[in-house]
Amino acid sequence: MNIVKNRSIIDKIMHFLVHNSLLFTVVIMGLVHATLLLITLIAGATTLWYFNILSVVVYAFCTVLGKTGHILPVYISIFVEVSIYAVISVLNIGWDCGSYYFLFSIVPIVIFFGCYIFKGSKRWIIVLMLTMLFATYMVLYIGFWDTKPVYEVSETIRMILTVFSAFAMYFSVVFYMVMYIYSSESEMNNLEEKNVKLSVDAQADALTGLLNRRGFLPIVDSLMEKGKKNHFCLAFTDIDNFKRINDSFGHDCGDEVLRHISELIQKEMIGCDICRWGGEEFIILMKNFDFNTAIQKMENIRQMVESTPTTFYNKRVATTITIGVEEFSDIYNEPEDIIRIADERMYYGKQHGKNIVIFESVSNAN
Ligand code: GH3
Ligand code: MG
Ligand code: MG
Repeated sequence: MNIVKNRSIIDKIMHFLVHNSLLFTVVIMGLVHATLLLITLIAGATTLWYFNILSVVVYAFCTVLGKTGHILPVYISIFVEVSIYAVISVLNIGWDCGSYYFLFSIVPIVIFFGCYIFKGSKRWIIVLMLTMLFATYMVLYIGFWDTKPVYEVSETIRMILTVFSAFAMYFSVVFYMVMYIYSSESEMNNLEEKNVKLSVDAQADALTGLLNRRGFLPIVDSLMEKGKKNHFCLAFTDIDNFKRINDSFGHDCGDEVLRHISELIQKEMIGCDICRWGGEEFIILMKNFDFNTAIQKMENIRQMVESTPTTFYNKRVATTITIGVEEFSDIYNEPEDIIRIADERMYYGKQHGKNIVIFESVSNAN
């Protein structure tokens, strides 16, 4: 239980960090320079101290820019600030303080945010920036590794600065790696969720939310599999004189009637699979219903539709339905076979006055 709970907390933190990664970066950069400000103050390296104040101000400003969605200026500021800081730092307190690590600490930042900002062929800019970072390191190393610095700092300060900047590099690599993995995993999860929704949508009717043929037929098919001994009844329902409703009250009213009737059927037939078969035709699949119960249920629905008109903009639109019912037996091999019989019975009802439930084969019903 605890593990699940912890995971969800970690998940929440990761979600927050991924969605605020630029702001987080800028705040951390500001804190790094606030720490360096303290260390350089103790070390008495005045020039660096001033530069650190400037850096803190830059990152405070970047926080505002980041919050208002100005990613590019923040990105460039980080690159320029860190490059200049590494150079000034090596010149002022020497190569031994490890300030060049900062150049490598922003490599993951340059790639992570760069890939978000620059798309396609524009990504050469990222390559250029990475090259510039390494070139800066090379120039500093070749030109200044044994040059006497402006300020002589104590061994302890040198150690602290080296470990601090190495840790900044280490943290950066780990942090952006984790961010990258988490964001691509959550992207994958989103895609999977969307796929599931798409396949559900592909099996549903947009107007009524009922199953469409694609979603319905496999259900009937699986019930009819040989040897399974499933029992079910099936009703084919058609709204009477629906064309007249469209013609008299408009297509939108017709749509409202379709929604209304499908809701009535859903309420009455909870647990059944209901399909919008075509325009104003519905099929109701009644699993484990004996034939008499199915007929009685359909008679209830017929009466309910008749006595519950659709309300459309203060108008009450009365409708009726005609239903054909059939019970599954071994004579049916395909879903279409039993559907055809139910349809034929419904059609017989249409020819004999409509607003009726027919449950016998056409020849007998005569
Ligand atoms: P019957 O009593 O014999 O079934 O007559 P009917 O008018 O109901 O049947 P008919 O087949 O003549 O007309 C069906 C109409 O349903 C025609 C078509 O324009 C309409 N229709 C089909 N799909 C929709 C829909 O999604 N919305 C609306 N508003 N009308 C639709
Ligand atoms: Mg009709
Ligand atoms: Mg019809």
